[in-house]
Amino acid sequence: MRPSLLGLTRHGLHDALASIGVPERELKMRVTQLWHWIYMRGVTEFEAMTNIAKGLRTTLAENFTLARPSVVTEQVSTDGTRKWLIRMPATGPHDRGAEIECVYIPEVDRGTLCVSSQVGCTLNCTFCHTGTQKLVRNLTVAEIVAQVVVARDCLGDWPDASPPENGFVPTDGGRYVSNIVLMGMGEPLYNFDNVKDAMDVVSDGEGLSIGRRRITLSTSGVVPMIERAGEEIGSMLAISLHAVRDDLRNELVPLNKKYPIAQLLDACRNYPGVSNAKRITFEYVMLKGVNDSPADARELVRLLKGIPAKINLIPFNPWPGTKYECSDWETIERFSDIVFRAGYASPVRTPRGRDILAACGQLKSETEKMRARARLMLEAESENANAEENADN
Ligand code: SAH
Ligand code: SF4
Repeated sequence: MRPSLLGLTRHGLHDALASIGVPERELKMRVTQLWHWIYMRGVTEFEAMTNIAKGLRTTLAENFTLARPSVVTEQVSTDGTRKWLIRMPATGPHDRGAEIECVYIPEVDRGTLCVSSQVGCTLNCTFCHTGTQKLVRNLTVAEIVAQVVVARDCLGDWPDASPPENGFVPTDGGRYVSNIVLMGMGEPLYNFDNVKDAMDVVSDGEGLSIGRRRITLSTSGVVPMIERAGEEIGSMLAISLHAVRDDLRNELVPLNKKYPIAQLLDACRNYPGVSNAKRITFEYVMLKGVNDSPADARELVRLLKGIPAKINLIPFNPWPGTKYECSDWETIERFSDIVFRAGYASPVRTPRGRDILAACGQLKSETEKMRARARLMLEAESENANAEENADN
């Protein structure tokens, strides 16, 4: 099978071209040309690359493709949010290919793509649906980049394309995918190298051009990687705090047992480049009767004193089987008032795409749901079989 060049770094493209015998002295120029066609223009055929000689176009097409991972389903919410289930190409004969969900949130002046860094997540935060998924692996650089390319394909967000007819897209004249949040499935700092390379591709000014100030990396608090993230990825940082006491955070975000709140906040104080113009976002999920008291709000404000911060209160998004409930609206307002009076602007995040289960923490791959269903059916069958056996004896 011919490999796809989609999602490769410049370095990866260089090696791919060298492998088909493109002469050393031409490599740099060819990489620049391909980069432009793939990431600036979004072409899907080598034939379209008109400034590359016909002979080389043919050789490229004989050896490679520009294939995208396939979009299995697309759901469009009443508020314009879109959720795509994307299937990555199989890695071997026994692999159907990883499936991940990717969410697009249009607003008037921006379009934000919520990108996944892993299939599933190993961290098991108790309020997060992704954390309940058994199957976990890191996404490759190409698989992370491909999410942005697929979104641009579906939205018609390339120079020669047009937006979908039923689509909400930003109307400010900018790109439809203008911002990225690494808030899909997975813990980005557990897949550091691939996330870093993917963000290099995505932010490259001669290609997808999504600047690092428009990329937000959200972490549950992998303290030893935070400094490197600032230095090597240089994106905006969001911290999933969710609790102001270690005993409660240990429960909600079990990683806290390894890296408690004080260490996490120290890492934030030292985040490279942090300033009032580049604040850290603290995410706080509102769980009814768990972390939503006025005392919690006051403690939150006290803890963050001295850190250039934004606070983002996230109404809990329920999923089937969860033991948590979202705080009442009055409780959220009371909490947000305290935060607001301490000088933080409009802290509550409006949930988007709830009708299509596209909101934070609801992403879980369809395969996994199907496997779970299949498992239940098998268990039911074997129970029946046992019952029959018992009856026979
Ligand atoms: N693993 C990273 C990024 C993915 S989660 C992290 O934890 O930061 C993105 C955000 O959604 C995190 O703040 C996460 O805590 C939050 N989240 C997870 N499940 C949620 C749910 N059911 N309702 C609301 N927010 C949720
Ligand atoms: Fe993983 Fe983030 Fe979900 Fe926790 S909240 S389980 S770290 S994806």
